[in-house]
Amino acid sequence: MGEVRKLLAAVVVLALLGGAGLALVLFVGAGLSNRPQAWCQPGGSGVDVAGVPDGEVAGYAGEQLQNAATILRVGKELGFDPWGQTVAVMTAMGESSLRNLPFGDAVHGVTNPDGRPTTSVGLFQQQDNWGSYAERMAPERSARLFFQALDRVEGWRELEPTIAANRVQRNADPRHYAKYWADAVAVVAALAGVPGGQPTPTPPAGPSPSGGPSPSATSPGTGAVPAVPASYDLGPVAPHTAAVAAEIGQRFAVAEIGGYRENAVDSGGHPAGLALDFMVGDDAAKGDAIVDYAIANATRLGIDYIIWRQRIWFAASPQDGWRLMDDRGSPTANHMDHPHINLSPAPGPGAGALTCLMASSVRPAAFGTGQWLAPLDAPVSSRYGPRVLAVGDGGEGSHFHAGTDLAAACGTPVYAAAEGVVTYAGGPFRGLTGRVVFVDHGGGVETSYNHMDAGGVLVRSGDHVAAGQVIALVGNSGNSTGCHLHFGVYENGRHVDPEPFMAALGAPLG
Ligand SMILES: [Zn+2]
Ligand SMILES: [Zn+2]
Repeated sequence: MGEVRKLLAAVVVLALLGGAGLALVLFVGAGLSNRPQAWCQPGGSGVDVAGVPDGEVAGYAGEQLQNAATILRVGKELGFDPWGQTVAVMTAMGESSLRNLPFGDAVHGVTNPDGRPTTSVGLFQQQDNWGSYAERMAPERSARLFFQALDRVEGWRELEPTIAANRVQRNADPRHYAKYWADAVAVVAALAGVPGGQPTPTPPAGPSPSGGPSPSATSPGTGAVPAVPASYDLGPVAPHTAAVAAEIGQRFAVAEIGGYRENAVDSGGHPAGLALDFMVGDDAAKGDAIVDYAIANATRLGIDYIIWRQRIWFAASPQDGWRLMDDRGSPTANHMDHPHINLSPAPGPGAGALTCLMASSVRPAAFGTGQWLAPLDAPVSSRYGPRVLAVGDGGEGSHFHAGTDLAAACGTPVYAAAEGVVTYAGGPFRGLTGRVVFVDHGGGVETSYNHMDAGGVLVRSGDHVAAGQVIALVGNSGNSTGCHLHFGVYENGRHVDPEPFMAALGAPLG
């Protein structure tokens, strides 16, 4: 089960941006003691489930993905955020491989502690004390029973997902579900934007209603189970860019997607980690289908503009439709073989659900360890200390630079430097401009993080964060002349130089 972790690598990329394989272990095994962020409110960024992918996701397909979509829809209806929804999908993976089984472990001779054969059936393998056979065999109803029971587990949000699932399922091995978490995240990621429990729609491969070129007659992949690569090598793109690549790539079985490129004419595109090239070769029908889907979901996915077959479409002025572009020469330069989808710097609400899940995930062993970690694996671009600002320089609004600037692409995840409680998350505060987060680590020590863009603050005041938890995304708000994190350290209310402070704790910056 789940041996083909198609989306996993793409999902891990989300958590990895910014660098250095420090988070590669994130979804692979280790205990995820964490909880969802307040930012991930029920409904708001919940998985708003438009068509289940035809292919496989993490080894799951067809009926299994339909069942996952049903679980997500029910969870959303009941007010569970993506974290809770993922716990439920993980549980059903561990119980039934997401299949609505009319039998249970009893066929393998498994008995209850009192010796009676088990009576478990359905997606969640619920026994007869859960409800009637018919109820337990109705995916929607059994999902509802699961969520209701989860809701009764005190403090489930604070528990590791497998422990929370075990409290509901009362199975013998509390860690049984842990190995399904990564796959559950991948499936939830792929299903974001999928209407739950509906029959699989046929792929939208018809002629483009936008008046595009007629599709080619030969689309070998259409309608068949597509061959989708295990992951896309996108380079350091923004998390929501990776989320959009995963969703569209899986849905349309795209074998190759271009992401980050250092040298490109569009400074707000590939070099910014905000552009995706979906390579379709001469399969114009696939390109049309991708483009139609992207337009239909432009708001949810946070799409800024699309270039396809020498035409450009802007999300901000959809009434203008497609505009013809200058002839740039080659077919590739004219985008005849690939739709170029450019995202806005801030994630759309759908991609945001993904970012939300990522934000709920921490590096292992980050609670209660006293551990300190660099908030960003990126070079120091400006040090703490007096600054000589030229008139009109912009700077940071002060002649004393009260923190350390770390330069990274907008959208790069920012980690809490240590465990603590968020004491402020909002606009300009304590001399800092743009969006600001303060975390109190106890003992008179605080850290600050700022310049996040809209959508880039992933915590709220009062949140308890773990060391290494993703709390923000690098932005460019306030007095800032480029994407960077201004990181501050305060002792007893006074700012100190973050570089020696962090170095002394074994977490050097830069
Ligand atoms: Zn491109
Ligand atoms: Zn700064």
